[in-house]
Amino acid sequence: MSMKKSLKLGLAALVVVVAALVFMPVQTEAQDVDHVFFFIGDGLGNAQATLTEYYLQDKYDDPGYELNMHRLDEMAVTTTYGADKVVPGSAQTATALASGHNTNFGYVGVTTDHEPVTTIMDRARENDWGTGLVTTTRVTHATPAAFASHVPDRGMENEIIEHYLEKEVDVIAGGGYRHLYPADHPASTRNDDRNFFEEFAEAGYNVFEAPQVDEFRDFEPEGREKILAGFHPTHMSYEIDRDPAEEPSLAEMTEVSLNTLEEYGQFMMMIEGGRIDHAAHNNDPGGMIYDTIAFDEAIGVALDFYEENPDNTLIIVAGDHETGGLGLNSCEGMEYGYYLDFEPIIAQDASIEEGIEFENAEQWYQDIADKFGLDELSSSEQAWMEHGVAIEEEYGHEADIARPGRIGGVYDGGQDYDVPYDEEAVDQELAAHWPQAPWISPAQSTLAHIVSRRAKIGWNTSSHTGSAIQLTAHGAGASHYEGRLDNTDVARITAAILDFELDPEVGAAELD
Ligand SMILES: [Zn+2]
Repeated sequence: MSMKKSLKLGLAALVVVVAALVFMPVQTEAQDVDHVFFFIGDGLGNAQATLTEYYLQDKYDDPGYELNMHRLDEMAVTTTYGADKVVPGSAQTATALASGHNTNFGYVGVTTDHEPVTTIMDRARENDWGTGLVTTTRVTHATPAAFASHVPDRGMENEIIEHYLEKEVDVIAGGGYRHLYPADHPASTRNDDRNFFEEFAEAGYNVFEAPQVDEFRDFEPEGREKILAGFHPTHMSYEIDRDPAEEPSLAEMTEVSLNTLEEYGQFMMMIEGGRIDHAAHNNDPGGMIYDTIAFDEAIGVALDFYEENPDNTLIIVAGDHETGGLGLNSCEGMEYGYYLDFEPIIAQDASIEEGIEFENAEQWYQDIADKFGLDELSSSEQAWMEHGVAIEEEYGHEADIARPGRIGGVYDGGQDYDVPYDEEAVDQELAAHWPQAPWISPAQSTLAHIVSRRAKIGWNTSSHTGSAIQLTAHGAGASHYEGRLDNTDVARITAAILDFELDPEVGAAELD
């Protein structure tokens, strides 16, 4: 062995020893916690939660009304930045919350080097706890995926469902059956002939395919049972549009999952309000508020359970990042003043993205009157709307009102636009001064901003922002979530409370 090599080996050994000393798990006072509800509001910042609470106070004329998430005993603030981005994406933030690893944009359950991470849910399962993933998005979407799968690209949803099967996540409920059916099914986006409803059933799961909503609601477990439920080809409907005959609410899914997992004695559930984020991307006030209310009602299910089991139940309510740059009282061109107005949102009866669709101008004006109470537009609103309608009529749903250069372009699925600038398409002068999420149309985007302006709500982006966000917690061990936390600390603290060991490089949080 050369001198150089043995020196290298010696150094390596030293590094290992030092690393072991630095990262040696701190002895923690594990608590007697048997039930963990880990709620994640995707895109849920302070402003989203506050606006929702004020909206309900106004609607019910009850100034004291509090959201469940604000009734919890403990409150902390968490950072949201990722390893490669100050403004993060949901895959990396969920990985941080689930595993304590700060990773890159789009990475699910893997480190920046693509190494699979250990999650708190992995440890729960290894300890024979029941585990559950419940969401209003596709079940294979980034946030739930980060708790029980490991892929370097959040788009690998066909693989993510395979990981759930391998890991035997006990309860899986939400949307996204396009990744569960084989390629020959009309809704499928798989490129193989695997049918995961069949494979999960063979593995002993009770499977609920759309539209088996009542069967799902009525499910009564006999002992330790497992569930796979998929109610929508992609994300479940926005709460404001949801038909209860076709899709259960997030609270109902939480209830069924809870009844099932309770039979395990010990359990951990991740429950995501996944479409708060999508509505906020669309700058859709009513869509965002209704999905936040649905999320909060699911927290109510956990609080009811806590009342029965206060000594060994822990409820965590986190966000992953803020979406939209939501401001409560700010709008370009608005007169100086300090107020919000909820009437325009209370009048809203459909989501911007899925609840109203442009076919022609006549139908559009009728629909915004019927579904949004916009039967009379001011002269400036009329001009904006005519502009949005004109662009949509000329260039179609994909046209981008905020950036005329993108006219005719297609959103590539989450990373970036790669569309040649087309100066001829629309004169720069016609660009509206508000953001437009890629999956809504010029008319829809204009509608979102007319409603928002009437409500005195400002949005400064159609994507995520980098602000720190709130976390609340309740029950056994909850007092350890306090002050300003890194989002990775949430996993470390949760693991320490439960006496679960995360990866050595993550280490353990020290509990007081
Ligand atoms: Zn988002």
